[in-house]
Amino acid sequence: MPEVQKPRRCLFVDRDGTMIKEYPPLYQIDDFSKLSFYPEALLYLGRIARELDFELVLVSNQDGLGTPKFPEQDFTPVHRLIMETFAGEGVHFSEELIDRSMPEDGLDTRKPGIGMFGKYLDNPAFDIPGSYVIGDRITDVQLAKNLGCAAIWLKNNPTLGGGEVKDGAAELERHVALATKDWKDIYEYLRGKERSVIHTRNTSETMIEIALNLEGSGQCAINTGLHFFDHMLDQVGRHGGMDLSIRVQGDLHIDEHHTIEDTGIALGEAFAKALGSKRGIERYGFALPMDETEAKVLLDFGGRNWIVWNAVFRREKVGDMPTEMFFHFFKSFSDAARCNLHVECRGDNEHHKIEAIFKAFAKALKMAVRKDPLSDYLPSTKGVL
Ligand SMILES: [Mg+2]
Repeated sequence: MPEVQKPRRCLFVDRDGTMIKEYPPLYQIDDFSKLSFYPEALLYLGRIARELDFELVLVSNQDGLGTPKFPEQDFTPVHRLIMETFAGEGVHFSEELIDRSMPEDGLDTRKPGIGMFGKYLDNPAFDIPGSYVIGDRITDVQLAKNLGCAAIWLKNNPTLGGGEVKDGAAELERHVALATKDWKDIYEYLRGKERSVIHTRNTSETMIEIALNLEGSGQCAINTGLHFFDHMLDQVGRHGGMDLSIRVQGDLHIDEHHTIEDTGIALGEAFAKALGSKRGIERYGFALPMDETEAKVLLDFGGRNWIVWNAVFRREKVGDMPTEMFFHFFKSFSDAARCNLHVECRGDNEHHKIEAIFKAFAKALKMAVRKDPLSDYLPSTKGVL
C-alpha cells in the first residue's frame, strides 16, 4: 500500500530567551561575552529533533540588524556559533526567519506578524494546526494565534511584554498549550502529543470520530450506540493504558454490522496513524485468564495484515452485539492497522470469553506500542515497518 505523505508539523522556535538567554537591557547579542545557552535547551531541543517528527524553523526578531547600531559583523559570528552548537546536538533548522526591522516600522514581517510565513500557510504540505510556536514572550503567543497553531510559552520572565500584542490576555491564554520554564516539560509534552491522533471516517453507513493517545492513562469515552461493544472498547483503552474516545453514528436501524466493522477499520487506521514511523516500538503479544476462560492475543505491528482466529461462540449475541461480528471487528482492525493478529480463546462463559479477548488485545496493544524513550531503533531488519 503506498504511503500517503503526511503533512509536516512545524516547531517555530524563537532564539533569544528560548534557545539562549536574553541579555538586558539592550537585548542585543552582539558579542560572545553576552552569549549563554538557556538551561537544557541543547539537551531537550536535541531530543525533540532526533526523536520526534517536526520540521524546525527558527523565528527571531533582531531589531535593527544590519544598521550601525547592530552591525552584521557583530551578529553573525555569535549566531553562527549558536546554530553550530545546536546542530552538534542534532538540531537542524530547515529555515531561519529573521526580521531586522524596528517595532516602529510596523512591518508584518516582524513577529508577531506573519509576513514571512507565506510558505507555511494554505499549503497542504504543512500541518499548521498541529504545529507550535515555542517562545518566551507574549508576542510569541500572539504569533501562534496569528498563524493558527498553538504556543508553548517558555515563561521564564513574566515581565517581558510586547507592545505589538493585539489580543487580550484571556484570548491569548487559549492558544497556550503549555506554559513552563523548563525545556524538559516541553520535550515531555511534545513527546506525549507525538503519538496522539484525531481520526475521522465517514461513509454513507457510519460516521466515526476517534481520539487516541498512545501515551495516555486509560481515560475512555466510548459511544457506538451498542452498549456491549462500548464495554469491550472501554477495555481496550483502560487495559491498554491509552486515552481513547470513540463516537459512532451508524446505521443501527439496519443492523449492527456496519457500525462494528467500520469501527474496527477506523480504530486500526487511528493506530497506524498514531504509531507513525514506529521507531522505538516494542512490536509484539499477551495472554490472560478470566475465571474459567483463557485468552491469548498475539500481535505484530510489522506492516502486514493477517488474522488467525481461534475462538468459537455458541450464543448468537452477547448483549446487543452479534458474536459473528467479533471476528469481523478484529479482522477489520488488522487490515486497517496493517498488523498481524492471532486470537485464541478457550472457556465456557460467552461474556467472559469475549471480554478476555478484548482485555488481552488491550494488553497486547500496550506492549506492542510501548516506546523506549531512549531508543530510536526501528525493530525491523528491513529498515521499514
Ligand atoms: Mg525571545
